[in-house]
Amino acid sequence: MNRKETDIYDITIVGGGPAGMYAAFYSGMRAMRTKIIEAKQELGGFMRTYPEKLVWDVGGVDPIRCERLIDALERQAKTFDPTIVFGQEIADMQRSEDDIFVLTSKTGEHHYTRTILLCAGRGMTQVQKLDIEGANRYELTNLHYTVTDLSRFKDKCVLISGGGDSAVDWANEMEKWAKQVIVVHRRNEFTAHELPVAQMKAFAKVMAPYRIARLYGEGDQIETVAIEHTENGAIEKIAIDEVIVSHGYDRDFGHLLRWGLAKEDYGVSVDLRMRTNIPGIFGAGDFITYGSKVRLIAGAFQDAVLAVNSAKLYLDPAAPDMAGVSSHNARFFEKNKAIIQG
Ligand SMILES: Cc1cc2nc3c(=O)[nH]c(=O)nc-3n(C[C@H](O)[C@H](O)[C@H](O)COP(=O)(O)OP(=O)(O)OC[C@H]3O[C@@H](n4cnc5c(N)ncnc54)[C@H](O)[C@@H]3O)c2cc1C
Repeated sequence: MNRKETDIYDITIVGGGPAGMYAAFYSGMRAMRTKIIEAKQELGGFMRTYPEKLVWDVGGVDPIRCERLIDALERQAKTFDPTIVFGQEIADMQRSEDDIFVLTSKTGEHHYTRTILLCAGRGMTQVQKLDIEGANRYELTNLHYTVTDLSRFKDKCVLISGGGDSAVDWANEMEKWAKQVIVVHRRNEFTAHELPVAQMKAFAKVMAPYRIARLYGEGDQIETVAIEHTENGAIEKIAIDEVIVSHGYDRDFGHLLRWGLAKEDYGVSVDLRMRTNIPGIFGAGDFITYGSKVRLIAGAFQDAVLAVNSAKLYLDPAAPDMAGVSSHNARFFEKNKAIIQG
């Protein structure tokens, strides 16, 4: 393969969600030449699906809108100027004779690296769309698969379809904004947590077990939704202003699982130092699983630190086990000066 020494990175992080972004920062602290490759055109990962939500459970951070947390993580990820590649889904991995990994994207580009850190989360998630003919024509107007601006629902009649945490959370958020909230769910029981379900039932009109059967519109705007009772087939028509569909996501790990990585139900298996069964390949975040795995942003940070430290030791067994703490780390001296003088 035609490659130069400068094409080779110490660590290549696949996936730019919270695990990948924090790993990029921490690998900079460990003076590793770092590349992040993200399939989408932006960093943020799954957090991009709930940009308006307030996040409370990241240590030391006041309740913060998720999109602002993404911005902060992105700035932190860029602290040591990693190379960031967008729009490339990594598919294949090979190892050359001199032990350099060659990653190949679906679009045919090659990336050379001494170690790989897989932060691919739930893989290439695709939102589960309404399986109704012609539904896509309303996607640019009043059919939503995520909510990015709550104010557009002010004083509207909003129909929400779904029974999981996300659907119920959106319903509860709408209470402050919408004129009326109707929740349609195909089963009698909601899978969301009890407390938010009870909160929703206190103000929303809940129609279960029903499913959306048809959308009627004028031009590109849905005006009426036909819902069908899933047990007796009875149809009701409801006039609405906005429709939110929250039916979850399909997970697709693409070609990554063809590499020979050991896997359990919830993800790729790693040991307590985030090492996969393939030497030189590590994992962090929702992509992996181990006994006490925490599927939260905070858990992704912890995994990222452990994985980067393992990658560093893989490259240099004489290196310290972990980076020096940031408050006393020479890599920050100049940056600290700039901030203090700032
Ligand atoms: C509705 C909802 C609300 C949540 N709220 C909270 C909360 O309040 N607090 C909290 O701590 N956690 C919350 N979580 C969980 C949190 O979002 C996840 O734990 C976190 O996003 C996992 O981060 P990650 O980096 O491992 O993966 P992800 O965020 O899934 O990022 C993975 C990235 O990898 C990319 N990728 C995948 N495959 C490839 C490939 N082959 N090549 C290149 N790129 C690839 C994807 O495009 C994606 O950008 C919530 C989750 C959901 C579903």
